[in-house]
Amino acid sequence: MQAIPLSSPDITEADIEAVTQVLRSSALSLGPKLPEFEKAFAAYTGVKHAVAVSSGTAALHLCVRALGIGEGDEVITTPFSFIASSNCILFERATPVFIDIDPKTLCIDPAKVEKAVTKKTKAILAVDVFGDLADWEALSAIAKKHRLSLIEDSCESLGTKRGKRMAGSFADCATFAFYPNKQMTTGEGGVLVTDSSEIATLACALRNQGRNVQGGWLAHEHLGYNYRLSDLQCALGISQLHRLPAFIRHRAEVAQMYAEALAPFADDVQIPVMQKGNDVSWFVYVIRLAERFSQRQRDALLAYLRSRGVGCQNYFPPIHLQPYYTKTFGYKPGDFPVTESIAGRTVALPFHNHLTKSQVLEVCSALQEGILSLTS
Ligand SMILES: *Cc1c(COP(=O)(O)O)cnc(C)c1O
Repeated sequence: MQAIPLSSPDITEADIEAVTQVLRSSALSLGPKLPEFEKAFAAYTGVKHAVAVSSGTAALHLCVRALGIGEGDEVITTPFSFIASSNCILFERATPVFIDIDPKTLCIDPAKVEKAVTKKTKAILAVDVFGDLADWEALSAIAKKHRLSLIEDSCESLGTKRGKRMAGSFADCATFAFYPNKQMTTGEGGVLVTDSSEIATLACALRNQGRNVQGGWLAHEHLGYNYRLSDLQCALGISQLHRLPAFIRHRAEVAQMYAEALAPFADDVQIPVMQKGNDVSWFVYVIRLAERFSQRQRDALLAYLRSRGVGCQNYFPPIHLQPYYTKTFGYKPGDFPVTESIAGRTVALPFHNHLTKSQVLEVCSALQEGILSLTS
């Protein structure tokens, strides 16, 4: 069997042509493609401002900086995420305060958030996990009551809608990412989106060495970074954004194929179910083994699938149990039981735009044989 990768970007001749044109233009950075991409991206997500940056992590860092979060501040966030959503808080010497997740949504459990608010709490940073949305209604109410800022890590939910509102429009500022496994790619890249012109202006300065837009090239108003996105990447972003609705449709079809193929194995495998009322843009396809399976069995299953050429991953190992976090903060197994129980049983299956029905069936039969080998 030919190997089936976990993810794969969707690059066409039109994408290649778009990048090549920039190469021929010699305006490789801070050229016309940057504002063109930002404008198109803001329009797509329905926010006023988009600031393109070098990665999703950079966008998260700029959210924390732009909201003035720093040493001594606490930010309430989730341990069930990609590490960047918590590291961005540490970059500014603030403290991530982890709250366990809701097992149905896999997002931060708003019922547990309010109890964690202290005098030091500055913000809530919630993650739209695997494409579905955090409970922004409940989180917004808590933020309003306690005068907290809200950050939306929507790096996995580009294109997800709830009614007319798009992912990225629920908080003071939000982030997207364009690594090649995301719904669309610029190779590396990210965007900060916001309705606040102050946050957008500050983020623009911070991504460009602290230069104000009106200031000179060697006038550095702020402690800034080089978080710029090149025009090559912006051109690829514009081209990909045109096809994003088609990408999202293909991914929903693949998710449907998996749901049908896995239906007979409901005893062993729980398929992902997105929340009612959300029109979800699928990022990954993550199944959960039944509760009787241990983490050791799950890891054996991952090894088996890889030996069969099936790309797979344990999205996500809990952040609080990552070595840096246990060493620095003393977290231990048992601290966030819902996150740990789910994280120990997840298997992300191959998922991308061009996956065929026969590949989906191959993956599912390898999965079935793998599960059988665990229990025999
Ligand atoms: C992909 C992702 C990011 C950003 O990743 P980069 O590699 O820095 O672009 C941030 N948060 C979450 C939840 C993600 O999935």
